[in-house]
This record gives sequence, C-alpha cells and structure tokens, in this order.
Amino acid sequence: MIKKLDNITINKIAAGEVVERPLSVVKELIENSIDANATAIKVSVRNSPSLFCEVSDNGVGIPFEELPYAFERHATSKIEKIDDLFALSSLGFRGEALPSIASVAYVTAISKTDSEKEGGKIVFDGGKRVLYEKAMRKRGTTVRVENLFFNVPARKKFLKSAVYEMRLIKEYISKEALIFSDAGISFELSKDGKTVMKFSEHDDFTDRVRHYYGKEVSENLVYFEKEHDFFRFKGYITAQHIVKKNSSELNFFVNGRAIKHKKLLFVVKNSLREVLEPGTYPYLFLFLEISPDFIDFNVHPQKIEARFTNEDIIFSSIYKSIKDTFQKLDAISTVSSFGNEREFSDSNDYTYSVSRRNRTEDIVAEAKRINLFDDQDDIKMDFSRAEKKISLFDYKYVDTIFERYLLFSSNEELLFIDFHALNERINYDKFLNDNFLKYKSNIIPVAVSLGKKEFDLIMENKDLLDRFGITIREFGESSVIVETLPQMRLKQNINVEKLLHEIVEIIEKESDEKLFADVIATMACKASFRTGDKLSDEDIAIFAKYIENGGFSLTCPHGRPVIKKIKKYDIDKLFKR
Ligand code: ADP
Ligand code: MG
Repeated sequence: MIKKLDNITINKIAAGEVVERPLSVVKELIENSIDANATAIKVSVRNSPSLFCEVSDNGVGIPFEELPYAFERHATSKIEKIDDLFALSSLGFRGEALPSIASVAYVTAISKTDSEKEGGKIVFDGGKRVLYEKAMRKRGTTVRVENLFFNVPARKKFLKSAVYEMRLIKEYISKEALIFSDAGISFELSKDGKTVMKFSEHDDFTDRVRHYYGKEVSENLVYFEKEHDFFRFKGYITAQHIVKKNSSELNFFVNGRAIKHKKLLFVVKNSLREVLEPGTYPYLFLFLEISPDFIDFNVHPQKIEARFTNEDIIFSSIYKSIKDTFQKLDAISTVSSFGNEREFSDSNDYTYSVSRRNRTEDIVAEAKRINLFDDQDDIKMDFSRAEKKISLFDYKYVDTIFERYLLFSSNEELLFIDFHALNERINYDKFLNDNFLKYKSNIIPVAVSLGKKEFDLIMENKDLLDRFGITIREFGESSVIVETLPQMRLKQNINVEKLLHEIVEIIEKESDEKLFADVIATMACKASFRTGDKLSDEDIAIFAKYIENGGFSLTCPHGRPVIKKIKKYDIDKLFKR
C-alpha cells in the first residue's frame, strides 16, 4: 500500500544526505551564520562533537514568530523562486539543513533580532518540537546540537573517533577563515571550554595561513590574479621549495565555498607537472569568483561540488596563470638574489607580489653518531686513504662516481652501488628489526615551529612518534621540541624540521596498516647519505660489509636496485675485442 510519509520521516531521509557527520552540522550552521551577516562566529564542542556542538553568532537573528519556520522543510529566507537559484549569493538556499539536523538530534536554537526586546528559544527532540518560548540573548543566533544520530544507529556507527571528527571540523573552520579573511569575520573553536583555535577579525589572509599552516608556508606565498568578463580569480601558491607529497593542499574556493572538482584538480596538476618535481605539490589557495548564472551548486546536497558553464575557458586561464607564475618565479630567483617584498608587473597584466625573505637557517640538529654495529671490530679493513684497500668479496673499492655511486672492481667485473639506496636499506632493516624505544638517542633539542594543523596532528600522535624513537615536547602555542631521534646509522646531520613535516603528511593519509612502514621508510631516507655527500672510508667499508652479509640482490625500501654489475666481457664487446 502506498502511504504518504510523515514530516519527521521525510526530514530524517533528507538528513541522510545533508547530515553525514558532526562536520556537516558545523558546516551548515556556520554557513547560516555567514548568510546572517555575522562577523563573529564561535563553535564550541564538549566531549565529542557528536555529543555536544554549538555554533553561536552575532548575525541578524531570527524573529520569535519565525523560529518555527526556520525548522520547517524547504523554509528559507534566501530564495523565493527557481530563478533566484541562478542569481544566488547566499551559501544556503535549500531550506533543509535545520529541519534535517533537528530530526536526528536534540537541538536548541536561541535567537534575537535587533527589533525585538526579547528573543526566542525553540527545542526539538528527534524532530519533535518540545519547547517554544521567549528567551534572552544579545542579537544573534545560537544553535546547539546534542546527541547527534541518537535515533539513527546505522549512521552513528560510521562516526570515527572524537579526535578525528574534531580534526575535520578544525580543517573546515580554518578554510572558512581563509575564505572570509577579507570580510573580517572572526572564528573561534573551543573544546570543553578551552579555546583551541582562533582567527581574530584583524587577522588578514596571510596571518590566517600562518596560524594554521605555519610560517614556512605563509612567508613563501606568491600571489597571482586574473580578470575576465564573467569570472575572475586570485590565488596564492607556495614557491618551489615548500611542497607536499600529496595534493591535499590544492584548495579551490568558488564564490565563497570550498569545493572539490575532479577536472579542475586535473588541470591544476597538469600545470604543476611542468614546473615541479613529479609527485610534489605546492600549497595552493585559489579563489574563483564566477557570476552566479555560470555556476550551479545545486548538484550536491552538501554543496561541495559545482557545475561550471564554460569550464574550459575558466580552467585554461587558471592553467596558464599557474604556469606563468612559476616561470616568473624561476626567472626572478635566477636573475637576482632573494630580496624583500617586491611588486612585479608584466605585459600580461598580472600583478605579482613576491615575498621571499631570507629563509631562517634550517634548524639542523646534530644527531649523535652512535654505532649500531656492535661487531664493528670484526670488520677487517684497512682504512688508510693512501692504500684504499676497502674490499667487498673480491672487489676493490675504486672511487665514488657521479657523486652517487660507489665503484668497485674485480678482475672480472665492475660493481656499482647506489649508496643512497643502500643506506636507506640499511636504516630501514635496522628500524624494522629493532625495538625503537631501546635505541632512542638524545640529540641537542631542536625547536620546530609548526602551524596549528601540523601541531595538532603531531600532538595527537605523540605516543606513536615515541614508538618511533622520536620524543616530542609541547613548546608554546604551536611549536614543539624534538628531544630524541631513533638511532640512525651513518648520516650525521638530519633536518629534523623536514622530517617532522614529512611524518605529518604520512599520518594525515590515515591508512593505519601502511603508516608504520611509511614512517620508517621516510626516516630511513632522511637519515641516509644522498647524492653529493662525502662518504668517509669507514662509511664505505661499513656499506661493503653490509653487502657481504646481505648479498647482491638488495633493493632499497622503495624497490629500486642497490647494486648493478658490468662484466669485463661486456666492456670488451664494446671495444670489439
Ligand atoms: P537555508 O540556509 O537553506 O535557508 P536552513 O535550514 O539552513 O536553510 O535555515 C533556514 C532559515 O533559518 C534560513 O533561511 C534563515 O532564514 C534562518 N536561519 C538559520 N540560521 C540562522 C542564523 N544563524 N541567523 C539568522 N537566521 C538563520
Ligand atoms: Mg542553511
């Protein structure tokens, strides 16, 4: 029998699309605050975001009589007819967020407008209105959402840890803070009464980037912009040496919304492929503004996707701008030494403002050189340079060539060893086979200043890092001190700061099974000699010894070969002997 669904059921079904997790609640509420012209937005979480989450603003408020309508499906103050959709400047328009949220949680809204003496309060429990009365408040709106999904156990099961849900919320708020930096909207996030993140109304875009991503990123942003008839964009991109191994910080903001767009991502990656090392990605903040009739956000219930009209024109312009920006940058850095802030204009009517300060010297720690080879005495080698008698089975060490291969020779063949690959293999094996805790080594403590994002990730995973032999201590608002590193063989200097950044990237990726191996591979790599490094005879001897124990079929942790041979026979053939 076909039956008409009741309102609560309809809202719960809609909630399935709109409200996926605590982040969706925060997103919808913040968007409502922004649409209400709020200039100060506060988010508070207690316990876990799914148990208690509240967004409070100083916006225009909802008049007492209209409070119930705000929680009715398809009730919105933002559009009246379908044409309005195509000339839309507000973030909300579907009129389904509040009723959807109210159907799957315990929701309290308190609001007051300027024209009222008293405000109002309305409470919903699983979609049923349980209270509606006058209440006091300053102008603005507070919406509190408790016990999210208490009546949708299937959904509740899919929520991850409070820490993870909180991380998503932080990430989202920081992006909103970037989008609305010019508008001077302040954002504050608190957890259990303690402020955990704050962007004040006076912080401009760069301040906000510094706060969330750290100084490295904020001081190396290069600006570009372009204006066309129906769209314009501006962007900030980090210079070549500030890159990530994944594309997670290629950020696209369209008309005030963070969006994901496969094709745009593809286009941008292509433009980068030509100017950056493969597999590295900059931080990019691209702000695109398109006249509303050329873009449709009504293609995804959470409005995180968009459909463009004339996307080819838009995307190719972005493609060109990014490529040009990097090319200019290259020209600048080779023509002149690093200077202070400057402005460049060029014939293509772009304006660049390049900020390239002298980079503070890399904080490099002297990791103590501790010998992991207890049996070193057994290495029967003569280290005197004059005789160069380092040997490996029947091979004698000849020289280091092309700055990265150790060359050995015997009567029958030449042996090439990629010393970086070998060093990585040695470290990697050492790490896998040993108990890290046992082999922690103290270093001269290194202070590393991080952005909020990295800081939180590191602190959340302090215990994990400890298992890798890395001891971290909190130091000020968003810096840490690294006190120990795992004992690593051979390479003396290791850039602790770079190591931490890379570990954060690995943790971010979140695949637990691979995490361990990935972190180890990164540490093994960072602690290894690389092209151009000068190896001592002792180091070379240790490498030779390792191969004697391990055989000729070694590969590095990434699977590249360590050793290659060329036979005398093949060389003779070259000479037709
Ligand atoms: P939409 O945002 O799509 O209009 P919502 O369900 O999110 O739908 O909100 C319904 C209506 O409630 C909004 O159109 C707006 O009039 C009102 N409203 C919601 N949140 C706020 C707020 N923080 N301040 C002022 N008005 C609000
Ligand atoms: Mg809304």
